Amino acid sequence: MVLVRNVSSRGILMGRLPYGSDLLEALTAVCRREGISLGRVEALGAVQRARLAFYSQEAREYRFFVVNQPLEIAALHGNISTKDGAPFLHAHLVLSDGRGKTYGGHLAEGTETFACEYLVEALSGPALLRAPDEQTGLALWQGEGEEA
Ligand code: ZN
Repeated sequence: MVLVRNVSSRGILMGRLPYGSDLLEALTAVCRREGISLGRVEALGAVQRARLAFYSQEAREYRFFVVNQPLEIAALHGNISTKDGAPFLHAHLVLSDGRGKTYGGHLAEGTETFACEYLVEALSGPALLRAPDEQTGLALWQGEGEEA
């Protein structure tokens, strides 16, 4: 099944998150405050501790884990769409320690920001709505225009 949407940029925001903020909550708050329900996010910086998740395809549930040490945000990529009627941020990140060892996964609440410089690109186009997907157990984008 392929879902395709044609979107275009309606502007880019750049900014910095406060020390100690929850990375996922703070980025989500920026999107909601700016009225962005379709877009993409990237960021770099550092965290004091991280809480990530891995989705178990077998158990069909997220397995959360904490990396309780200072880490660099080597990469953060995410998208903004709509879930339960509100802007929803889905982001993955790669973190690195003092020896360059990396940790990665699905960004979860509980990741404490040390410093974060972000970029949010607001997009215009048909809304992307998340809804339960039977095949995967995930809340995936649904909509007209899908091809089986
Ligand atoms: Zn994810």
